[in-house]
Amino acid sequence: MFKPLASFLPKLGNRQLFQRNYASTLAFIESSKDGSISKSSLSLLAAAEKLSNPITAVITGSQAEKTAKALKFFYSCKNLEKLILFEDSKLDACLPEKLTPLLVNLLKGKEYSHFVVSNSSVGKSILPRVGALLDVQPVCEVTVIKDPNTFVRPIYAGNVISTIECPTEKKLLSIRASAFAPIAEGSMESVSIKKETDIPPCDLDVNCVKTILTRNERPELTSAQNVVTGGRALKDKETFDKLLSPLADVLHAAIGATRASVDNGLCDNSLQVGQTGKVVAPDLYIAVGVSGAVQHLAGMKDSKIIVAINNDPDAPIFNVADYGLQGDLYKIVPELTEKLREEK
Ligand SMILES: Cc1cc2nc3c(=O)[nH]c(=O)nc-3n(C[C@H](O)[C@H](O)[C@H](O)COP(=O)(O)OP(=O)(O)OC[C@H]3O[C@@H](n4cnc5c(N)ncnc54)[C@H](O)[C@@H]3O)c2cc1C
Repeated sequence: MFKPLASFLPKLGNRQLFQRNYASTLAFIESSKDGSISKSSLSLLAAAEKLSNPITAVITGSQAEKTAKALKFFYSCKNLEKLILFEDSKLDACLPEKLTPLLVNLLKGKEYSHFVVSNSSVGKSILPRVGALLDVQPVCEVTVIKDPNTFVRPIYAGNVISTIECPTEKKLLSIRASAFAPIAEGSMESVSIKKETDIPPCDLDVNCVKTILTRNERPELTSAQNVVTGGRALKDKETFDKLLSPLADVLHAAIGATRASVDNGLCDNSLQVGQTGKVVAPDLYIAVGVSGAVQHLAGMKDSKIIVAINNDPDAPIFNVADYGLQGDLYKIVPELTEKLREEK
């Protein structure tokens, strides 16, 4: 007669009978070509800490080791245990076609319960591919992590804030970087670094032919403390630059734009703030000649102080503004710039 199964348990140990899902987070770290870690990845690690799992970070590209050392010796993330490096220049361009097989390979087993990317253009292009191949629905643009299964995210261009309980065994999350303060400076002596050489082949013959960098002396838009944004009212590129640059200079601010400004050729589309542009939450956001359409508000309404300059008293931007200057921007902006210069 067979003994009841339970009588074997102490001998075998639970692990041999049940393959349990280990609660552990895999975080994808982004870095620039010179190996410096993107600020959004520092926020990503801060968000990953809230999952209360051990964290493994994966770093790719020719400068992966430099990035890993910068992370290990200059920052502090108490749950970070391991860094996995894929040091290969073919991964420099962060092409999702090349990164996806590599990430799916890491995620397909039971080791990781959570996978987190930042809500950058790289994260946004990786996550759906990983989700499709693992047959898991990702949860996008998470702004609050309530517990390892419950996440808050904005929907309908930020007009509704939804709380989601995620029932899937594996959770794939993109994190809105502006909602999490970056991890603090420090060092992490105990973090191990593992170099991987086994890079899974990419089924698609995709290569990066050319990278065109937009040189910008200003702070990066998504992480700037101050942002000055110009709307359609600025009419043309020359006026946009002539009025906004001095104001941004005096505030050491990044320059943003509405979609109407971008579509009308007033500036580069990398400056677009909003639902289909970048999401920012600076300390100070000055909206110049911006009406405040919902799609624009979706990208900036979490800014700490909002100043709106508009000649229409009924412009919706005034509904979210802490300070409203009603009048002609062509008079107000030079005056404001001059006053701020005097204050310095
Ligand atoms: C699917 C979808 C996605 C979108 N995504 C985005 C997005 O990501 N970001 C975004 O910004 N938009 C987005 N839009 C477009 C959005 O709906 C608005 O059309 C756009 O934001 C308007 O830009 P604006 O405020 O510059 O222009 P307008 O709406 O034309 O506003 C110009 C403002 O300037 C004021 N003004 C004019 N002259 C002066 C003056 N001399 N002095 C002071 N004020 C003056 C006017 O009173 C007006 O309020 C999206 C739209 C759709 C449908």
